[in-house]
Amino acid sequence: MNNVCVYCELEEGKISEVSFELLTKGRNLADQLKCQLEALLIGHNLDGFEKEIFPYGVDTLYLADDSRLEPYSTLPHTEITVRLFREQKPQIVLMGATSIGRDLGPRVSSALGSGLTADCTELEIGDHEEKKEKKVYKNLLYQIRPAFGGNIIATIINPDCRPQMATVREGVMKKEIYNLRHTGKIVKLDVKKYVDDECFIVKILERHIEKSKVNIKNSSVIVAGGFGVGSAENFKLLHNLASMLGGEVGASRAAVDAGFAGHERQIGQTGITVRPKLYVACGISGQIQHLAGMQESSIIISINNDPNAPINKIANYVIAGKVETVIPKMIRYYKENTK
Ligand SMILES: Cc1cc2nc3c(=O)[nH]c(=O)nc-3n(C[C@H](O)[C@H](O)[C@H](O)COP(=O)(O)OP(=O)(O)OC[C@H]3O[C@@H](n4cnc5c(N)ncnc54)[C@H](O)[C@@H]3O)c2cc1C
Repeated sequence: MNNVCVYCELEEGKISEVSFELLTKGRNLADQLKCQLEALLIGHNLDGFEKEIFPYGVDTLYLADDSRLEPYSTLPHTEITVRLFREQKPQIVLMGATSIGRDLGPRVSSALGSGLTADCTELEIGDHEEKKEKKVYKNLLYQIRPAFGGNIIATIINPDCRPQMATVREGVMKKEIYNLRHTGKIVKLDVKKYVDDECFIVKILERHIEKSKVNIKNSSVIVAGGFGVGSAENFKLLHNLASMLGGEVGASRAAVDAGFAGHERQIGQTGITVRPKLYVACGISGQIQHLAGMQESSIIISINNDPNAPINKIANYVIAGKVETVIPKMIRYYKENTK
């Protein structure tokens, strides 16, 4: 009762990365609230997934297993989730801000009459004082996200309705095993009791999914280019450096808008969120919307001809110079100094 619950997403028989990121955050929130962490997994052939889920600190795992529940479809997943939450009354529910979470979250929150904050970048626990009513709300979920085009960071609370629901973008939270030996309780839901046959009105006959050709999110080295790179031709230098370092090429929105790189490479508030070991920012000024997607990188190198570029303030190393002269030198010295 009144626990933290994470909806775990399945895609092609695999639990999505964002679900593990949310379980990590969920465990942390549950510890602060001194309650349990629950997870809900809906799909087919679910035996064995507990081995992946329990190490993230899950105390209770709800499984809804039926051949008709995979792949995801809106009505049955919504119905099961809503009925389970009506029964269990979690105080906090977390979902990925993926196409599934963006479809499921609003339906569930609307059915439960609760609020939902989409695309959160941070979640914290804190109190809120309603001065007019002289009332203090304890231990609320602070749902934090950029607002007004990223110009402000808004903290949104839901003092009265439960559950407090939030979707979180992929890659924003850190994924971390809680305890490899941690184990919990498995509750197998009787699917017939949680979803009516009419909910299976849509049958998926065939699925065609085009896999993304770039894997920026999981790359430990990212060489990202901005408008200062100057041209698609100059971007080839970034590709050369990235391939030498075993990394991927990212881009700012200005570089994408200018046609220097494809949209699938855009990093930032309206692109991908990354946290690589090394982020080389080339000709990127460092506006807040870009920083939102990369500021958790372990080491940041900025190459910029403006020594006062805002990105230099968060960079570990700054190389003041032109991208087109600095990068060929980096490639040359790297080749000379590695076997
Ligand atoms: C709602 C909203 C969402 C947004 N989402 C995103 C997002 O997801 N991602 C994102 O990146 N932006 C986003 N933006 C845009 C963002 O505000 C900035 O406009 C953008 O990040 C700027 O990109 P930039 O740094 O490449 O370009 P600029 O700001 O033009 O900076 C270019 C930099 O290159 C340097 N430079 C110029 N020539 C050279 C050279 N030869 N060598 C070295 N350095 C050089 C300049 O000194 C400058 O610092 C968003 C904006 C809004 C309003």
